[in-house]
Amino acid sequence: MTALIIQNNENSDFAQSWAELQNKFRVFFGQAKYKSWISHLDYVERNGSELILSAPTRFIREWIRNNYLETMADIIRKYHPSIKAIDVIVRSNIAANKNDNTRTKLRNVDYEHNSDNVVHPEDTIGSPIDKRLNFNNYVVGETNQLAHAAAKAIAQSNSIIAGDNPLYLYGGVGLGKTHLLHAIANYIRENKPERKVVYLSAEKFMYHFIKAVRNNDLMDFKEKFRGVDVLLIDDVQFICGKNSTQDEFFHTFNSLIDEKKQLVISGDRSPTCFDQMKENIRSRLSGGLVADIGGTCYELRLGILRAKLSQMRNVKIDDKVIEFLAENIVNNVRELEGALNKVAAHSLLIGKQINLELVQEILGDVLRLQDKIVTINEIQKKVADYFGIAVSELISRKRSRNIARPRQIAMFLSKNLTSRSLSEIGRKFGGKDHTTVIHAVKKVEELCSKEREYNEDVTLIRKSLLN
Ligand code: ADP
Ligand code: MG
Repeated sequence: MTALIIQNNENSDFAQSWAELQNKFRVFFGQAKYKSWISHLDYVERNGSELILSAPTRFIREWIRNNYLETMADIIRKYHPSIKAIDVIVRSNIAANKNDNTRTKLRNVDYEHNSDNVVHPEDTIGSPIDKRLNFNNYVVGETNQLAHAAAKAIAQSNSIIAGDNPLYLYGGVGLGKTHLLHAIANYIRENKPERKVVYLSAEKFMYHFIKAVRNNDLMDFKEKFRGVDVLLIDDVQFICGKNSTQDEFFHTFNSLIDEKKQLVISGDRSPTCFDQMKENIRSRLSGGLVADIGGTCYELRLGILRAKLSQMRNVKIDDKVIEFLAENIVNNVRELEGALNKVAAHSLLIGKQINLELVQEILGDVLRLQDKIVTINEIQKKVADYFGIAVSELISRKRSRNIARPRQIAMFLSKNLTSRSLSEIGRKFGGKDHTTVIHAVKKVEELCSKEREYNEDVTLIRKSLLN
């Protein structure tokens, strides 16, 4: 065995590093764990980017693999970034074949060298899951009901949900997409530990992906997702506009679905609104279940505030204040939470109940900022001007195409640029039903994807509203 190991300088150098690494493991895992398990590992060889270690028995190897290897891989990689994979073999197997010094044979026949033994340091591709974001503290209301139900169904299922693959969650910033993805991950980790769930941002996905393309190692990239049952990708808008890699991304994406991995993807807009996204990806995203997390409605905002307040100790806030916040902080849940925290902190500081007067003082700039958002009135005015019609016509019941089309666009933009719920929007358009708004949004999305000029109109109005 020794003859095989100390083959070159790289190896003997690493033997020394191994001793240093062992010290790190000792410190990190503590003496007891180190002594019982990790100290039994021997360094065998380093083969380019692969590190081979050995354990005395199969049992110890399995135990280390299941409990420590991922963390060890992180530690190793910190000091030796070029190491991409770690393999643990069972020592007795080497000893038995000591005399057989043909390396290839050793590797193929005698090492227990199946890919399951390999932990790629970068295999910890996922981002950490925040335990605080779970289904229990996700407040459900009119605007996020579908997204919540779909996410929960996936979390509870033991296999993929055919019609829901991929599940695409879309909504503006701060409306709870990330919360739902983490909730899925937390639920599965707690209740179905046998199912492997990985959460990562699309940006990180792309990072790994681009690196694989550069290193000409797409196989390795795919390998990383092999054991994953549920893959959660956050903020897919980040992959837009990177044309060269979109095709490859699409293949990977497709093969994951073909391999029956459940995918849940979040993004900040509906698939049809990704102007720079390739058609095939768009249609694949639309092919599963598309769940829109609409803006917030008053009831949801109130529900969220009450739920969060009930978790705060020693904070006294007048119910009128809570209603005031729900009424006035309408952009998204993140701002709503921020406002509540600010008020709560103040209440703790001064040790008395916060009333309406105080709240205006405390939240002055936050409240002013709310004024800057686009309002439905502004949208109506802009759209009416653009198409040369009157606002009164826009909100009338007229059905002629020259009125109906601008009306649909105005509804669509209201949905996209404000945080008003579908019913609220309907009301603002002369008391129309929320289904009319849904229909308008779908129609605009459809036309945007089919007619270039129409798409340009919508984009232009949108831009001018945001400027
Ligand atoms: P997004 O990913 O859509 O930008 P997040 O998931 O990060 O939004 O949500 C922003 C904040 O609002 C987080 O702190 C999240 O916990 C909270 N939040 C969003 N929606 C809800 C909800 N329905 N119930 C409770 N908290 C929510
Ligand atoms: Mg997010």
